[in-house]
Amino acid sequence: MRSGTWVSIGIALLWSATEVAKAEDTRPVSEVAAGVHLIEHRSAPFEGGNTIVIIGSESVLVVDSGFIPYVAREDIATIATLTDKPVRYLLNTHWHNDHVMGNQAYAEAFPGLIILAQEQTARDMDLNIAQAARRTLPSWRAQIEQVDQQVSSLPQFEQPQRDTLMALRNRLVTAEADYRELTYRAPTLRFERGLTLDLGERQVRIEHLGRGNTNGDSVLYIGDAKVLISGDLLVYPLPYVHDGYASEWIDTLQRLRDFDAQIIIPGHGPALSDWHYLDQVRALFSAAIEQVNTRISEIGPAEFRTLAEIEGHVDLSSFKAAFASGDPEIAAEFDRMAGRLVRLVFKEASLR
Ligand SMILES: [Zn+2]
Repeated sequence: MRSGTWVSIGIALLWSATEVAKAEDTRPVSEVAAGVHLIEHRSAPFEGGNTIVIIGSESVLVVDSGFIPYVAREDIATIATLTDKPVRYLLNTHWHNDHVMGNQAYAEAFPGLIILAQEQTARDMDLNIAQAARRTLPSWRAQIEQVDQQVSSLPQFEQPQRDTLMALRNRLVTAEADYRELTYRAPTLRFERGLTLDLGERQVRIEHLGRGNTNGDSVLYIGDAKVLISGDLLVYPLPYVHDGYASEWIDTLQRLRDFDAQIIIPGHGPALSDWHYLDQVRALFSAAIEQVNTRISEIGPAEFRTLAEIEGHVDLSSFKAAFASGDPEIAAEFDRMAGRLVRLVFKEASLR
């Protein structure tokens, strides 16, 4: 599984036959409630965050612009089939590249577009995203060369897989061209706690509920449809824990539960119909923190200890079956995620 919410394109890895089989260009679109459309970005290697299209009687708001400009342009073409109203607002739920790199495509397609982000998210975009296209450009070329090498040197790839690899190559070439032309589009409306917008016969509420996945995550609530959009505070089927603020994250997730929501759209993955998954994630984080703290109380402050002294004493495997639901790939990824979660909790403990 090559998914990640901060998509790393710095390392060219060999594609396994299983991954190649999954590298189809998949971008399912579904109407999760009246006038609320979810576009999932599942295509390897561009597994961008979800884009959500919210249609009012006067204007349209889009949540997150994805990772690749050409994919954002495809999304914009899809939006044109859903509504003749213009996209007036684009919300970036947080600064990670797989949620913001499509901003330019929206800004070009919709003159006067207002790009919204929480203040800290906007600052982190200015810091980390403004130069990201220039910085990561060489890695696209490396990926293309790696695919070329693999196609020519791996006879075990059957023709269908070879075709898929060549289709993947074409997408990489298009993405590279996109990144060469990419201009950073910063948020134009920055807020601290939240704001309410009227799209015409539909109000949406955007709120920053505290730190979690980043220090500036926003969620969006559509009251008339009882839909809550969580950004990467919630990622399905496994939480994304490369960075973030584990202990505050638990509290922020609990605040999500205060919304009267019947549909929860995570930052990645399909729409969820109840709080079950959120509770599962909270329980996992709580167990990780509790076990790391127990170990620290035995050996002394984390500041003077190493991660290696913690790792063997934290066991999150009891959660694995519930997250994996019998999928061996998710089970394997769970172990990697659990390792990162322990590291994240330890890092946080080291700052106390
Ligand atoms: Zn993401």
